[in-house]
Amino acid sequence: MFNDIYNLIKEFSTIVIARHVGPDPDAMASTMALKDSILLTFKEKKVYSVGSGSNRFIYFGRLDKIENPEDALLIVLDTPDIRRIDGINLADYKKIIKIDHHPFVETFADIECINDKASSASELVLDLINETPLLMNKEVASKLYLGIASDTNRFMFNNSTGNTFKKVADLIEKYNLEIDKLYVPLYLRPINEVRLEGYIGLNLNVTENGVGYIKLTKDLLDKYNVDAAAPGNMVNNFNYINEVLVWIFFTEDVKNENIRVSARSRGPVINTALAKYNGGGHKYASGARIKTMEEIDPIIEDLDYLCKKYKEESGDIVEN
Ligand code: AMP
Repeated sequence: MFNDIYNLIKEFSTIVIARHVGPDPDAMASTMALKDSILLTFKEKKVYSVGSGSNRFIYFGRLDKIENPEDALLIVLDTPDIRRIDGINLADYKKIIKIDHHPFVETFADIECINDKASSASELVLDLINETPLLMNKEVASKLYLGIASDTNRFMFNNSTGNTFKKVADLIEKYNLEIDKLYVPLYLRPINEVRLEGYIGLNLNVTENGVGYIKLTKDLLDKYNVDAAAPGNMVNNFNYINEVLVWIFFTEDVKNENIRVSARSRGPVINTALAKYNGGGHKYASGARIKTMEEIDPIIEDLDYLCKKYKEESGDIVEN
């Protein structure tokens, strides 16, 4: 399959690379690294990495704009379904490739390269480069390292296999990556976000069976002077709470007229529960966008039930 992808890349002189809305470091890293690698290999090609921008990820490189792509190849990374692709009309493209590590949702590409066991889209791009004549340099290696490190939460999640470690070790050795320096822009945050994280810790509600949840209104975000994307960037940090198996943030997003839902689990599978609410994602890292505050309570109830079942099945019954 990687050879088929390489052949299409070779064939087209204009290539557009897209990823999901509300990008995270893996979405940014994988798209930027693939763009850099294609340009390194084929200097004459026009390659555009598109999607809405965010200052937060400026260190991955600048995004491009393309008005009317003609005779172009589209490569969609890190996105399982059409509705989550950022700013692309699929009908504008002659051929489409999908490279993704989410559980399958729908087919929309001529080549569907899906491996939901892969740690990250960045790891799949690394495999693609390793197994085809596409070239790599320190810049590409650094971006891919960050994408993998971020989606595995610094190699803590069980999506980091022995193979992931071997591949990353190769990158570090071959390209002399200074990982302490690489991590700085990834983890550096404004003090306002740290203060908001403190607020969340102080005010997190915990249900009977271990769902930690919090509602973050626009007024609260304004008070801390952070945007609606900020809470989603700190949700991974709540992984160590004894009383909490599943945790979920509901953040009012006035600009997009919805409520951002970000959920994580260290027990029950949660993406199927959020699929009921127009969401999706991975088994233990899932999200959704809902329209009204009324939808919040049923979601918490569903997750609480999942925690209860999980505890019963794993024999982890907490006596009150
Ligand atoms: P987040 O909490 O935003 O980091 O998202 C966690 C995972 O859920 C990622 O794989 C996202 O791509 C996915 N996800 C987030 N929001 C949605 C949504 N509205 N629909 C489907 N998947 C989502």
